[in-house]
Amino acid sequence: MSTGAETTRPTTEISVVVPVFNEEPNLRELHKRIVTTLEALGRSFEIVAVDDGSKDGSLETLKAIRAEDPRLRIVQLARNFGQGPAIYAGFANVRGKIVCLLDADLQNPPEELPKLIAKIDEGYDYAGGRRSGRNESFSRQLGSRFLNWIIRRTTRTAFYDMGCALKAFRRDVTDHLVRFTHHSRYLPVDLAWLGVRMIEVDVGYSERTVGESKYGLLKLLRTSFDLVTGITSAPLQMLSPLGFIFAIIGFLMALRVLFVRVVSGDTSQVAVVVAVFFVLSGVQLIATGLMCEYISRIYIEVQNRPYYVVKDVDE
Ligand code: UDP
Ligand code: MG
Repeated sequence: MSTGAETTRPTTEISVVVPVFNEEPNLRELHKRIVTTLEALGRSFEIVAVDDGSKDGSLETLKAIRAEDPRLRIVQLARNFGQGPAIYAGFANVRGKIVCLLDADLQNPPEELPKLIAKIDEGYDYAGGRRSGRNESFSRQLGSRFLNWIIRRTTRTAFYDMGCALKAFRRDVTDHLVRFTHHSRYLPVDLAWLGVRMIEVDVGYSERTVGESKYGLLKLLRTSFDLVTGITSAPLQMLSPLGFIFAIIGFLMALRVLFVRVVSGDTSQVAVVVAVFFVLSGVQLIATGLMCEYISRIYIEVQNRPYYVVKDVDE
């Protein structure tokens, strides 16, 4: 079994990766539309369908299509791992110079692929679709807007619709992505980290006609939280400064108690207790914060990202 860390040299022009989980009714039309679109481009291509442990007849349908068209290659996962892992399994097995990505449910029109491919030809490392004319529930739109805002804030990159699955990458980008070993992966984070030249392109979008969506609002919110904790250790590092502030407040209070006592001879004890409380909780927070510093270092180390990424070196 392969973990997919090793990739091969490109032997075709374009690879289209499609994660598939229980999409049987969509597969034939999907295949037909991708093939029609890419044949019109007149460039060699392959479709890499990743069966993510489907429980309907998706795998059998894929095999039947492959029997007629060997340009479709199937990567079969051992069980349902989720859309993210399925995509990366696809990336690890592509043979194209340009790697495209789209959902199997026909919400992303395959006819838009040439727009993205053109951007890669132009010199971009990554081109992502930006859906226009979306007709989703209010809560879901709000959720994805919030998510994209967080992504922009945390990556300092202009991603407006990371949720759109229609994407194209220069091959070296997906090769780099495949080499990352951390498990809580977020594509925009890793793309920003790699320093890719990116662009978003307006693409069409249709409602899901067959099958059902595997994501809801709760999952979007969960993802937003994961994103923040997955990218930065800032929340952990806020503790120490907070501890210092507490300790300083306590210290100032103690000074005031002393001052009042000297000036007016007032020996009331309440203020002393409060001051001691502040100093102690300050010390506690500093200690916890110190521990968190170590934890955040471990956290960054286990992500095991490469130390640097070279873009080009002269021969
Ligand atoms: N998918 C997958 N594994 C999963 C869930 C989804 O491979 O565990 C695939 C699914 O077949 C589709 C894509 O990921 O091609 C997006 O899924 P879905 O359409 O349910 O998401 P939505 O469009 O609602 O965001
Ligand atoms: Mg969908």
